[in-house]
Amino acid sequence: MIAPDVLHQESLRERLLAFMAEHIYPNERRYFQEAERLGPWAVFPVIEELKPLARAQGLWNLFLPPHDGHDGLTNLEYAPLCEIMGRSLMAPEVFNCAAPDTGNMETLHRYGTPEQQARWLAPLLAGESRSAFAMTEPEVASSDAVNIESSIRRDGDHYVINGRKWYTTGATDPRCRIIIFMGKSAPDAPDRHRQQSMILVPADTAGVRVLRPLPVFGFYGVPDRASEVVFENVRVPVENILLGEGRGFEIAQGRLGPGRIHHCMRLIGLSERILERLCRRADQRVAFGRPVSEQTVTLERIAEARLLIEQTRLLTLKAAQMMDAVGAKGARQEIAMIKVAAPRMACQVIDWAMQAFGGGGTGSDHFLTAAYAMARVLRLADGPDEVHRNQIAQLELKRWRQTDPAVTGGGAAVLPLSEVEDLAANGPWPRPPGWPGTN
Ligand SMILES: Cc1cc2nc3c(=O)[nH]c(=O)nc-3n(C[C@H](O)[C@H](O)[C@H](O)COP(=O)(O)OP(=O)(O)OC[C@H]3O[C@@H](n4cnc5c(N)ncnc54)[C@H](O)[C@@H]3O)c2cc1C
Repeated sequence: MIAPDVLHQESLRERLLAFMAEHIYPNERRYFQEAERLGPWAVFPVIEELKPLARAQGLWNLFLPPHDGHDGLTNLEYAPLCEIMGRSLMAPEVFNCAAPDTGNMETLHRYGTPEQQARWLAPLLAGESRSAFAMTEPEVASSDAVNIESSIRRDGDHYVINGRKWYTTGATDPRCRIIIFMGKSAPDAPDRHRQQSMILVPADTAGVRVLRPLPVFGFYGVPDRASEVVFENVRVPVENILLGEGRGFEIAQGRLGPGRIHHCMRLIGLSERILERLCRRADQRVAFGRPVSEQTVTLERIAEARLLIEQTRLLTLKAAQMMDAVGAKGARQEIAMIKVAAPRMACQVIDWAMQAFGGGGTGSDHFLTAAYAMARVLRLADGPDEVHRNQIAQLELKRWRQTDPAVTGGGAAVLPLSEVEDLAANGPWPRPPGWPGTN
């Protein structure tokens, strides 16, 4: 007998696929046009029209794990659904499953007080508001969070916040009501990982100024509403601190695991769609007497793309399964691996598709440039590749430092002299008799 949760997941998958075909793909051109015409300070009406339809069909907040006695999907169950949503840049928001809201909702869900949840989480879950996460700063290398310079200073029953942030996704959105701000509350604390705190800043608080939208590869709003925001003597009540002073790093670690799986699964969906377009285009175009799809180089690329997608999907599903089984800490090497592998794979697949489309691959007709921007951004956002690779390598080194090579056969020590003598004496060409040094 098939387990009920499998049936439930299959039913969600079918409904999601049907919704994508009926409502998402036919509306994408409109979405891009609205984004271009209305700009990054505006709400795109097509999204607001489709959200109630998705919600009515139960295709809503699917990213939420099981919680407080409510049903929810595990990371492994959600991953294939997330892949479907990732096929379109507009879909995640329609299903209320878009970053950075998902990460922020998870943060509020895991670390928020009941009051914080009632005020900020409930409207986010309902899709009535949006949110931002402000960590990265223009003036310091923010891939290393200990560098963050913004300050959160206690003043009576308030905190006073100062700092300049950028690449704060979502702050130009008129629906953005709440910003999760990371800064230093104890800059001199001896433990560098206890200097930071996270605090909830309502977007309309005096002193919060959204300076400008930032382009991403020249695009505004899609695929990312990046923006620069300054916080000048912003006062919020002490109750707005998340989890407690000095716990910012801990929250940052906790919020990133599922978010990275989501990003990677979306990129896998995006890459599948682009590979499909590559195949169709290569079949249709005839150059030098035969379809481009019959050129060996095209066949090679299609095959390599399929290999890369399948490898990345399996690795990402493994990371999702490990997240469910052993949590973010136990799965940290897998999560770091997918965060490097998936954007790199997607960039490569999209790059091959652009080549197959010729000049048209650089335009907007075929969705390749926006898709590439999305994939390329993720080699930086949520931590650059290099930082993840460092972590992968450190964990790899640690593993083997703790293992006995005699058991694994992985030793690398220089051979002892006695063993070398033995090898030399018993090898195929022992020194001839009378050779200097021979006994
Ligand atoms: C579209 C977009 C959306 C984003 N959204 C958000 C958001 O919502 N909120 C937010 O806070 N931030 C956001 N970011 C910021 C993103 O997380 C940072 O850009 C990223 O963490 C890198 O920080 P940085 O830009 O300060 O680069 P830096 O820290 O200055 O690093 C620059 C480069 O140095 C190299 N480098 C760094 N460390 C190492 C190392 N250990 N080993 C080798 N090389 C290294 C890497 O090549 C790296 O790319 C977003 C970024 C983009 C592009």
